This record gives sequence, structure tokens and C-alpha cells, in this order.
Amino acid sequence: MTISRKKIERIIRPEVRGLSAYHVPVPGDFIKLDAMENPYDWPDWLVDEWLERLRQVSLNRYPDAAAVALKQQMRGALGVPDPAAVILGNGSDELIQMIIQAVAGPGKVVMAPEPSFVMYRQIAVVSGLSYAAVPLQADYSLDRDVIAAALDEHRPAVVFLAYPNNPTGNLFDPEVIRAILAQAPGLVVVDEAYAPFTDASFMGELQACDNLLVLRTLSKMGFAGLRLGLLAGAPAWLNEIEKTRLPYNISSLNQLTGEFALGHREVFEQQAASIRQDRDALLAGLQSQPGLTVYPSAANFILFRVPAGQAGAVHAGLEENGVLIKNLDGSAPALRDCLRVTVGRPQENAAFLSALATLL
Ligand SMILES: *Cc1c(COP(=O)(O)O)cnc(C)c1O
Repeated sequence: MTISRKKIERIIRPEVRGLSAYHVPVPGDFIKLDAMENPYDWPDWLVDEWLERLRQVSLNRYPDAAAVALKQQMRGALGVPDPAAVILGNGSDELIQMIIQAVAGPGKVVMAPEPSFVMYRQIAVVSGLSYAAVPLQADYSLDRDVIAAALDEHRPAVVFLAYPNNPTGNLFDPEVIRAILAQAPGLVVVDEAYAPFTDASFMGELQACDNLLVLRTLSKMGFAGLRLGLLAGAPAWLNEIEKTRLPYNISSLNQLTGEFALGHREVFEQQAASIRQDRDALLAGLQSQPGLTVYPSAANFILFRVPAGQAGAVHAGLEENGVLIKNLDGSAPALRDCLRVTVGRPQENAAFLSALATLL
């Protein structure tokens, strides 16, 4: 199987060859605080009830292509206002891909702040669009003038705003987001992946704003393994985006499990409430360590900066102590010396903090 470099270059697009595949470390026997996962397992009674329900699935049949029951359940659980339409995705990543595919074409631009969620750029580039990154200020807030000038210059078909932002954890000023909505020539997607950990949301502004789309996922609230996301917005937009959806993108197992899990959402809302409290304790723990700059977070993770040049050593030292977090140093100029830790169980957060203390 020797395929010549020349042949690959002839067949595979240069933009794709220039990318690196999204890297996920192989999970070892770690305290895993790198991927914004909910650290809590389901209680046994819930697992038993779920397994019983799974018996009803007819895997020989195609799933409900419209996922009617799950859609209804998700609308209610996520507070989608009535006139808005929704599309479900195999994770919100798939919905980002559908939005970009719907607008793709020569000269089309996707815009997002930098640093932000890496999939916006990855999917834009793979889909053949240009990507315009708008730098955030030193405190990771949006600069109203810089973004206004960038909107004028690039005329993006779609702007993505993660709210709260990943990997920085902060909420952008809602007034600046409203200014972007008013000025943008195309769609503005407010990506609320971390909605379970904040009270802030643009879901309530869908009716007032006809170029706003709101993106949600069940991943960060406790179902990362399930792969379920939701896009909400005006029916006129969603009817078009719907055409890019592959039929049966939500499997029968996903539909049943999603309905079941949201039927018991008090369990997961309780977990999210604990994670929010533990985030504040973890933040205080980080702030008490010398030499760190700790950034405020409205999500289930915290970004912090270590003394210059030490990110690699601190990251490796934590790993030697059995704790896996994310090293962001080198991924963007604004993230130099930065690490990101996901809020885990209280004992996991304590293990992380005490390992960190030995490394600073
Ligand atoms: C994690 C994350 C997503 C992707 O979530 P999935 O639904 O698991 O695909 C989308 N946007 C942001 C900002 C995220 O951090």
C-alpha cells in the first residue's frame, strides 16, 4: 500500500492537507479533567430502568427520521420558544457542519473570535470557506470596534460566538453580541454548549432577532457519549439548513436514550448545580496558588496561566501524578502559558490542586 505523495497531492485538497486531525488523547488510568465531561456516573436505578427501556428498540428498523418525540422533549428541556424551529444533530459539531455546508461557496467567510472553539475553523476550512479570526482583548472580552471593522471587511455568511467561550470560560458582553447581531450581514450562531453552568442565554432573544441561531448540546450536561445537539432559530433559516442533514442522523438508540435521560433531567440538573459550586471552590483553590493568573469561568472548566515557559512542565508533571488536563500553550498566541482544567468531583479537584502545588 504505497501511495505516492504526488498522487495524494493531486487528489486531496490543499486546505485539508494543511490541517491536523482533531487530537484526542487515549484515555488511560487518569483523573480525567481535560474534556469538559460531567464526572458523575448514572445512579444504578437509572441504569436499570434505561436498560429495560432499550429492550423496546427495533434495531432492524430505521429510526424515526424526524425524531419527533425527542425533538419535543428537547425543546421543552432546553426552553426553545414556540415560534422557533429546531434541528437535532449527532452532537452540536454536526450542526456546526450543517450550518457551514448550507452557506458554503466561493468567497464565503466564516468568522469567530480567537481564541475560541477549534471546530469552527476546522469545519470551515474543510468545507472550502475562508475563516476570519477576530482577536479577543487581553482579558478575552470582545472588542466592539475590532469586531465591527472585521464584519465590514469580511462580510461573513456566518459568525460563531461561543457563550460562554471555550477555552477561555468567560461570557461575552451581551450588549456587544446584540451589536454584532444588528450589524452582521448574515447568520450569527450563539453556541451555548455550557448553558447548564450559567444563567445567561440568548434563547429568549430568538423571537426578536431574525438572524440569530442558538446552538445547544447535551454533551456538557452529562451525555458526551450520546452525541446529541440542538439548533434553534427562525423556521425560514432552519428549513434550508435541514436540507444538509443526512437522514437518520439520530439513531434509534440515541432517540430512546435522549428521551429517557431528559425524562429524568432532575438528576443531571442536580449534578450541574454541584459542578457549578465545585467550580467556585476550584477557582478559589487555583487563586490561592502563587504565580498563577486565573480567569473567571461561567462554564465547567477554568483557564489559568502559569509562569512563562512552564506550561509543558506543569502539564507533564500533572500527568505523572495521574491527572490529565489540557495544555493550550502553543495553540494560539493569546493562550501562551495557559492550561485548562475541567471541574471534576471534589476529590479529583483536590488531587489536581495538591499535585499542582508541588509543581509551581
Ligand atoms: C464541546 C463544545 C461543542 C461540541 O459539543 P458536541 O455536542 O459534543 O459536539 C460545541 N461548541 C463548544 C463551544 C464546545 O465547547
